Amino acid sequence: MWIITNFVTLTIPVTYTDLRFELFLSDCTSCHALFHHSVLLSVRGSMQAILMPEPGRAVVTTVPDPLPRPGEALLRVRRVGLCGSDLNSFRGLNPLVSYPRIPGHEIAATVLSLPETLPAELRALAVGMDVTLSPYSSCGHCSACLAQRPNACQHNQTLGVQRDGALAERIAVPVDRLFPATLGDPPLTLEELVLVEPLTVGFHAVARARVQPSETVLILGSGGVGLGAVAAAATRGATVLAVDLSEARLTTARLAGAAHTLRFDPATLADSVRALTDGHGPSVVIEAVGTPETFCTAVDLVAFAGRVVYIGYAKQPVAYETRLFVQKELDIRGSRNALPEDFRAVIQMLSARRFPVHAAIGSIVPFAKVPETFIRWKDDPGAFTKIVIALD
Ligand SMILES: [Zn+2]
Ligand SMILES: [Zn+2]
Repeated sequence: MWIITNFVTLTIPVTYTDLRFELFLSDCTSCHALFHHSVLLSVRGSMQAILMPEPGRAVVTTVPDPLPRPGEALLRVRRVGLCGSDLNSFRGLNPLVSYPRIPGHEIAATVLSLPETLPAELRALAVGMDVTLSPYSSCGHCSACLAQRPNACQHNQTLGVQRDGALAERIAVPVDRLFPATLGDPPLTLEELVLVEPLTVGFHAVARARVQPSETVLILGSGGVGLGAVAAAATRGATVLAVDLSEARLTTARLAGAAHTLRFDPATLADSVRALTDGHGPSVVIEAVGTPETFCTAVDLVAFAGRVVYIGYAKQPVAYETRLFVQKELDIRGSRNALPEDFRAVIQMLSARRFPVHAAIGSIVPFAKVPETFIRWKDDPGAFTKIVIALD
């Protein structure tokens, strides 16, 4: 039994709608250790969120308001984009996710409160500004972090995957993850801000491929991620060939800068690509689908002395004709998440109005309809392009 012999202090910091009572208790009679207990009373504010209690179910529920910790900003969530990884979380096919989980990692939000000190590059940030954010975290001491590549952190925890995400009225995030709409000139709209994160993934892959203006780049897959790679390679002045199964996606890829679009047909694709590349094949192939077939197609189609960058996650093992690695002397690279410079590059591209924002967003869904949208999306994934949730 604990006997409290010394009631040291009671502090009551008030954060937003929350009251946190901290009791500092000391001197346990049995071990003489010091104790510190924090008691959160039920007066804490609450908010609505979308929770996945387990695979196959999403519900609108009430959760406690977030409490910003030191260095964190409190944000009002305005728009949240859904992508294939959210669908896989709902289906129970995302090996990285644990339940219960609030999904959401593609975010447009408005600043409600800021920490006292801001990083130098965010001095202009103010309450009321619209922002997007990087949903990744980095540990600072794994080999990727030490190599200045925190996007590939061994211990990364993405919002909505390993940590609760943004499908809630408010979130608290480290302020150094924010990118204000005003980094663009003119500033980005909410619909543009919510597209930044998915587009950065393709931008990072094009940076990993070191794409040059004179080159021809073939991109397998014109979904959200592939579309970012199309826009990034076109922004660099390269000639872009976009490949997909869907005519509608290819139309959007053309608007995003693809010079040529090709329906994915294994019987004819290689000939069509050769005809468009003087018989050489593209100097760069970026894979943004994640099937064993497209993983092999990338190596088959790329030119001799070319580069292949993989973004997709193949769910099954892939059998390769490995002599092509050697004969073509290929550079093969993986590409994961994105770096701050990729976020800034996407914001510049969007503010130059070079991207078909309205064609890329398939539907805007109100918050209350998210549970039924997940069910319809699971039942017929092909019927949906980018889903954006509006919270206001
Ligand atoms: Zn995503
Ligand atoms: Zn790390």
